[in-house]
Amino acid sequence: MEPLEKKISRWRFTEKEREMRIKVLFDKTALNNNLRAGWGVSFLVDGKVLFDTGEKGEWLFENMRSLGVNVDQIETIVISHDHWDHWGGLWDLLRQRKGMPVYICPNFSREFKDKAEKSGASLVETEKLTQISENIFSTGEIPGAYHGKYMAEQAIILKTRNGLTIITGCAHPGIIKIVEKVKHQFPGEPVYFVLGGFHLMESDKRAIEIAAENFKKMDVIKAGPTHCSGSQAEEIFKRCYEGNFVSIKAGQEMEV
Ligand SMILES: [Zn+2]
Ligand SMILES: [Zn+2]
Repeated sequence: MEPLEKKISRWRFTEKEREMRIKVLFDKTALNNNLRAGWGVSFLVDGKVLFDTGEKGEWLFENMRSLGVNVDQIETIVISHDHWDHWGGLWDLLRQRKGMPVYICPNFSREFKDKAEKSGASLVETEKLTQISENIFSTGEIPGAYHGKYMAEQAIILKTRNGLTIITGCAHPGIIKIVEKVKHQFPGEPVYFVLGGFHLMESDKRAIEIAAENFKKMDVIKAGPTHCSGSQAEEIFKRCYEGNFVSIKAGQEMEV
């Protein structure tokens, strides 16, 4: 069989490749006071692919109710990496949706995998580039580190007529490394939008400026740093991207 990487490089954007809608279900700030905000992120793509679940199930469900999300229409869950603020809402979801496919990295802990299976998840381990749904992919596991410990992570890629959109959880492997990886997986395709956690909150000003410059060099059109990106990174990216900077908040909907 032809490897997926090779097959994708032959595809070009066609008229059929429509736009997709991203709904921010959870983030550190929200559009209004009726929505819960906190640590972790959760993004819903086209009402059917859920990327991360925030820190707490109760809050995720409250936001889904406020935002008119039908839980029964969610087809797939992707968990970026094995940190509590990204899988916190998973258990309540599984209680309601037994047998749900949950995409994780092979390096998630045994403890997590056992609990997820016991809770009724149908686990899929993404070692490499994997198609999740029509025009939605996982990068596969990318090695990274968090406070000196190994921490693998996956991001998702949406392929629309505008180009590629990459959604990240915390970007522990490094946000630049993730974008480079996607560019390598989809050679020649433009990167339209990168959003999510960029994990630059512990980086100094110069390192953040270099990251923003690298985004420009890689021709990333729009940037939406949030969660663990840090307020300094949000300011620097905003200055660098001006009108193409997207401020991410729970409750927001975006077309990509
Ligand atoms: Zn995080
Ligand atoms: Zn993390």
